[in-house]
Amino acid sequence: MITMPSHLEIHDDRFAKLVHPMSTLDVIAEGFTWTEGPVWFGDHGCLLFSDIPSQRIMRWSEAEGVSVFRAGSCFNNGNTRDRQGRLVGCRHGARDVVRTEFDGAVTVLASAFDGKRLNSPNDVVVSSDGAVWFTDPTYGILSNFEGYRREPEQANRNVYRLSPDGALSVVVSDFTQPNGLCFSPDETTLYISESGSSHADAVPSVIRQFAVEGDALRERAPFAEIDTGLPDGMRCDVRGNLWSSAADGVHCFGKDGTLLGKILIPQVVSNLCFGGPDGQRMYITATRSVYRVFVDVGGAEPWTRPND
Ligand code: MG
Repeated sequence: MITMPSHLEIHDDRFAKLVHPMSTLDVIAEGFTWTEGPVWFGDHGCLLFSDIPSQRIMRWSEAEGVSVFRAGSCFNNGNTRDRQGRLVGCRHGARDVVRTEFDGAVTVLASAFDGKRLNSPNDVVVSSDGAVWFTDPTYGILSNFEGYRREPEQANRNVYRLSPDGALSVVVSDFTQPNGLCFSPDETTLYISESGSSHADAVPSVIRQFAVEGDALRERAPFAEIDTGLPDGMRCDVRGNLWSSAADGVHCFGKDGTLLGKILIPQVVSNLCFGGPDGQRMYITATRSVYRVFVDVGGAEPWTRPND
């Protein structure tokens, strides 16, 4: 019998094929306040991640360790890339979604809807057609900890889609604090986490799933429930398994919503991404630290695979 290391908790035999018995859980960066927004830049051999309260986007590479990528990040939270490889991020402080151009200039993509300011965009994904999908809970304006305290002008219920032609629309409007989101590898399903249990009683900690029908979403039955804490950031692997943040670590679900296993992390996890030289390292932002663990599967996002 193979003995798994103590940070791996197997709930289904399928999980044993996604991890490795020799895998170690490494802290690659620490000493932050609330880490979030990990995104892999294989073309630069580095990871970027946010430390929201300190208003910094950090850079980590195997060769050079940790450095500051951007100071004064305006409480930047979630990050992703578009198909041109540009960094796209959510700023609590400016209450907008921005793109960093190749020359370093920052372009505001969305900051208001229906004549009113957004709350505090939290996490973002870009589909292969160039549309930008993001969640807009109120976490970044509830206090001065990870933004500036303000009265919301929008309900804390909306998920938005910014079309390539610049039109902004609400695609879901019945969340309570929508949070992380990610596409299935074929982009036919969009998973969105409901983190409202932090905000109101009786809101379940579920990951909802939606069929993507052009520029609209059609809800299917809830995908999965998180049994410890609430779901925040998520990523899919190439086989379509969904890896979600939770209070006790990263939970891995099969395409059918079955909990396959957990990577147990000693701090509350906010988000994760795939990357590394072979595309099979998982980088996990968890409260004050960033962890790395080898997983035996690559990420669904094309830029996390070494040959793309
Ligand atoms: Mg989030």
